[in-house]
Formats: sequence, C-alpha cells, structure tokens
Amino acid sequence: MSQFPGVQFLTSASAPAQFPPDQGWEMAVAGRSNSGKSSAINALLGRHALARTSRTPGRTQLYNYFEVSPGSRLVDLPGYGHASVPGAIRATWGPMADALRTRECFAAVMVVVDIRRGVGDLDLALIEWAARDPSRTHVLLSKADKLPRGQAGTALREAGAALEGLATCQLFSAHKGTGVEEARGLLKKWLAESTKK
Ligand code: GDP
Repeated sequence: MSQFPGVQFLTSASAPAQFPPDQGWEMAVAGRSNSGKSSAINALLGRHALARTSRTPGRTQLYNYFEVSPGSRLVDLPGYGHASVPGAIRATWGPMADALRTRECFAAVMVVVDIRRGVGDLDLALIEWAARDPSRTHVLLSKADKLPRGQAGTALREAGAALEGLATCQLFSAHKGTGVEEARGLLKKWLAESTKK
C-alpha cells in the first residue's frame, strides 16, 4: 500500500509563474541525469509510474510537482550534468531555480547520487545552491544493489565524509527496497515538523 495515500501529480512548470502558490511546505528532489531520481521518487512515494524517467520526451526541463499530502509538495528538478544536454545545468541553476529556492515554502532538499559515482562537484554545487539547513538536506546513494555490501559500506562512509556538515546520507535501492523506509521516515519527520510550526 502507498505510504502517502493522497499523493498525486500536481503540475509541471516551465516558468516561475507556473509554480503552485507559495504556501505550505516544499521539498526539492535533484540529481544528475540517470542517477535514479525518478525511480527514487516513485519508491519513496510508493507509486510505480508517478515520476517518469528522464527519457520521457518533453518532461526533462520541467519542474514536476507532486502533492505528498495536503499543502505539502515534492518538486522533481531537471536532471543535471548530462554531457549532451549543456542546458540542463542552466535549467537547474538559472533564474527559475532561484525563484524556487527563495520561496517561503521551500524547506528541504533530497539529492540522488548514483552510489558508483559517489558525491561529485555538481552534487555539492547543488547542495550549496539549495543552502538549506544540513538537517533538511539528505542524499540518497542510489542503486546500492549494484555494489557488494562491503563496497556499499565504504561508499557510504566516503559520501558521509564528503558531505560532513552539509547533508546526511544513506544507502538506497529503488529496485531492492533498501533504505526506502529510512527515507520515508525522514520525509514524514520533516512533514510532521512543518505542520508544528
Ligand atoms: P533518472 O534519469 O535520474 O530519473 O533515473 P531513472 O530512475 O530513470 O533510472 C536510471 C536508470 O537507473 C534506469 O535504467 C533504472 O532502471 C536504473 N535504476 C534506477 N534505480 C535503480 C536501482 O535501485 N537499482 C538498479 N540496479 N538500477 C536502478
């Protein structure tokens, strides 16, 4: 069963004017192209085909909004760093991104990093750009099933060192379900905190 029963696709935005009203709570999910971001969002929200893969034509440069619970949204940012799409970086850090980041409701960020690549400069730049409280910045080391357990543990320690003071991190596999409960638990904690304010 879905862990977020009310979850639904809300809207796609190609300009700040199309963002939902600046109310409630918003979390951005970002990651390099092909990092497993769409799979991670689908696993996190417990829906199979909610976030489409980056190969879906026409959706790659859009900011895709999902309602997680009433007044709380997840916004799926365009994948960055793909060699054949130089505009992807501009699309992620341009005026539209700044409009997103400066919204009152913008509260948290999750960054999806392919565990075999590790945390890279673009991921760190994104975390710096988002400039959220480190306790509201979390990295999912995706596709953890692709590494043997020992190597995954090493990658987790290395990512933890690279992210020290900037973000928390965890192992994650959308395919095997590894870490899905842990990530959902964090999202639920953030949501609960946001309603207490
Ligand atoms: P996006 O481009 O970042 O949205 O990534 P996708 O979710 O479309 O995934 C990119 C590729 O990685 C696809 O071929 C997925 O099947 C694969 N992938 C995503 N998550 C996992 C995972 O947990 N394990 C493995 N082995 N492959 C994954």
